[in-house]
Formats: sequence, structure tokens, C-alpha cells
Amino acid sequence: MWRKLTFSHGVHPPEHKELTNQVPIRRMPFPDEIVLPVRQHAGRPAKPIVKPGDWVERGDKVAEADGFVSVPIHSSAAGRVVEVGWWPHPDGTMAEAIMIQVEKYSPQIPRPRQIPRWEGLSPQEVVSWVQKGGVVGLGGAAFPTHVKLLPPKEFPIQLLLVNGAECEPYLTTDHRTMVEFPHRVWFGVRIMMKALQVQRAVIGVEKNKPDAIEILSKTRPPDLNAEVIGLTVKYPQGAEKMLIKAVTGREVPSGKLPMHVGVVVQNVGTISCIAEIFETGLPLIERVVTVTGPGVRRPSNLIVPVGTKIRDVLEFCGGLTEDVTEVITGGPMMGGAQPNLDAPVTKGITGIVALTRKEARIRQVYPCIKCGHCLDACPMFLNPSLMGSLAQTARYQEMADRAHLWDCMLCGACSYVCPSNIPLSQMFALAKYQLSRLRKKEQAA
Ligand code: SF4
Ligand code: SF4
Repeated sequence: MWRKLTFSHGVHPPEHKELTNQVPIRRMPFPDEIVLPVRQHAGRPAKPIVKPGDWVERGDKVAEADGFVSVPIHSSAAGRVVEVGWWPHPDGTMAEAIMIQVEKYSPQIPRPRQIPRWEGLSPQEVVSWVQKGGVVGLGGAAFPTHVKLLPPKEFPIQLLLVNGAECEPYLTTDHRTMVEFPHRVWFGVRIMMKALQVQRAVIGVEKNKPDAIEILSKTRPPDLNAEVIGLTVKYPQGAEKMLIKAVTGREVPSGKLPMHVGVVVQNVGTISCIAEIFETGLPLIERVVTVTGPGVRRPSNLIVPVGTKIRDVLEFCGGLTEDVTEVITGGPMMGGAQPNLDAPVTKGITGIVALTRKEARIRQVYPCIKCGHCLDACPMFLNPSLMGSLAQTARYQEMADRAHLWDCMLCGACSYVCPSNIPLSQMFALAKYQLSRLRKKEQAA
């Protein structure tokens, strides 16, 4: 069979999308200050090319890519550079960042720029525009997009798979993008098909977004060999490997990538961002963010200039209620709690979710009772119970060798079902971090 519409295992957390799934996207005003970390993507951080005192226009490059797996950073507003230093990063660490005082009275009109005429460009030139535009995966992973568009020749790509699943609870960023900008999504699909030289594209959307499925189906350009597929609503349907399994029936083997089964997956927000580059010539300087949760006074879908502080975004949405105990960036399944609301919105931040005492209550952790629920939930068919017990005694290498830690995508499905409230996916994230550090140390030695 060509396709099945779901994958095995997975969970069904409450969706909570009703807070924002009918709220149109609005543009947020420019803040007084933006903070642009040079590390906003997977791979090597960008290198600053501005210094305090420099004037920048909206869209100007302020840090350049450092190698192939890296992208440049551009200013999302006109203003003056006040500092290049260290600032809280939304991942909880401190990171090198460029601070820009935004010019209050600037009309924020970017410099005149070349708009690439995509029809006349070679696939390599299209890819080069994508890298110059600083584009990364906007679904959360922030992997430089151009890298995915240049697979080695021995792995020919047959299918462009556009990820419109948005299976994380609360988030409606992709949903609203599909509903409000369907022509832009299709334009992006057209450009990506050219870059990858593929004959076929599929947009996969969970069936809890019937309006998105309908409008994308109605607006599909007749000359494109592309279709929109409604997928079973299940978490983590939007994970690359799960999406490929659901749409094509193909399994991405352990340790391999989608290109090894002839597929490239791009998030629908990324596709829309690429379309904008070819419409306006502007790089990635703003993104759609869902600001939601019971602790936000005015849940919204916003276009936010990259670098706006989380605190400013929340204030624009009416602020937080008194009983908020946790603010998460990303969704509640894979996102991280924010220790510092002065951290900025980076390119990979899909949502800001404010939870109150009721949702974010601290639960007592009990020993594993070997119930097996986590095994039934894991979409990668791992043994989270075993990995959890190895993690408790810091046997990280054994987790990798015996329990396939590197196949874990930190989706959080196991933690969600665990009756003992064991924070399994957080333990696995720590194990991966420690192993990566060890590897880097060994390489440096
Ligand atoms: S976090 Fe890892 S181990 Fe847990 S369900 Fe997801 S993939 Fe499986
Ligand atoms: S779900 Fe929790 S308690 Fe049950 S086997 Fe897995 S780790 Fe143990």
C-alpha cells in the first residue's frame, strides 16, 4: 500500500488548541530592544560582524554563517548596536548575543533589495538564497534548511513531505499559517520541488485542522503533482520519522535520515518563510509564534520580530495571570521551562505557553513499577523503563549501547504515560548532553 495514515504506538494528550486555533495572526509592534543570539540554529554559531555603535537597518546581516552547517543572523529592526555580549538564551544557558536599541521613530522599511527570480535560478542557486536568508527549520529543531536541500547524489529524493501535523498540544502556529497563507505555502512547495528536483509533494495535516485541509486542497495549483493528506490525530505525528511512516509506509532505519528513504521533510512554516524570501528578498527576521495557555490573558498568534524578549511578547498579550507557575517555550511535550523571561524569541521558538498551578503542579516521583506503559507509548519501540533505570545511575554509555539512546527523539510520550511520574525524557536529554560533551572532550584531546 502507498500510504498508511498513522504510525504505531504514540499517545493522545489533551489538545488545548481551542484557545488560539480560530485567532487570526496579528503583527506585534517593534520592541524597544532586540537581542539576537548568534546560536539560534543547530550547527556552528554565527560570527558577529557588527560592533557597538554600528547602525543597522531592518534585514541587515549582523552575524555571518560559520561554515556549511550554519546560517547568518539578520537584524529584525532598524536601530543601533549597543552591545555584543552574553545574554540568557531560551535553552536555559547564556549565549553570545547582539543587542540592538530599536529606533523608535524609524518606519522600519528595509533597504531596497534584490528579489530573486526563482524561475531562472538553478537548484543550487535556490539553495544558496535559502542559506543567505538564514532559514532554519521553524518547527522547533532549527536545523539549517539548506543542508537538507543538498542530499548526496547517491540518495535521490522522490518526495517532498511538508509537515503540517502540528501535533504538540496548545500550538496553532502552523495551523493559522496554512489557513491564512495557503497560496504562500504552495509557492514555497513549488520552489522547494525545484530545489530538490522532485516530481511529487505531499502536505500532511492532522485531521483536527479540517479548515486547513480544505483551504489547501482548494488552492492547490493544478499543475503541481502535490496533494494534501489528512492524518490521524496522535502524538508525535509531526516527528519526521512518524510522518514518513504515516504518509509513505516507509521506515527510516535506526541511525539513518529521511533522505535514506528518498524523502525530505520540511515544516510548513519553513516552506512559507522560503516563499517570503522569494516574494520580498527579505531574510528570516520574524516568525509566527503562538502565545497561549491558561496563564496568558489574551491568547494570540503573533508575527514576532526575532530577538523580541519573551517578557515583551507576553506583555503585548495582556500579561500573565497571578497563578502562573511555569512559562514554556515550544509545546508542553517537548518544550522547555523558561528560567528567564528576558531570553529572546529565537528562530526555532514555535510557541510560548503559560501554565498555572493546576496544569504545572509538581508531582511526586515514585519508583518504576514495571507496568510497561512507556514501552506501549514509545513510537520508536525503545524501552524507556530500561533507559530510565540506567540513567538513574548515570550509565549513559550503556544507554547508548544497549538501549539505543540515540534513536530517542525526546518526544516525551513515555514521561506523559508514566504512572510513577518519572521524568524519563528529561533524563534522556541529560544523558545525550553528557555523552555529547564526553565525545567533544575526546575529540579535543
Ligand atoms: S522520549 Fe524517547 S524513549 Fe520516550 S517515548 Fe519518546 S522516543 Fe521513546
Ligand atoms: S511507565 Fe513508568 S512505571 Fe511504568 S514501566 Fe515505564 S518507567 Fe516504569
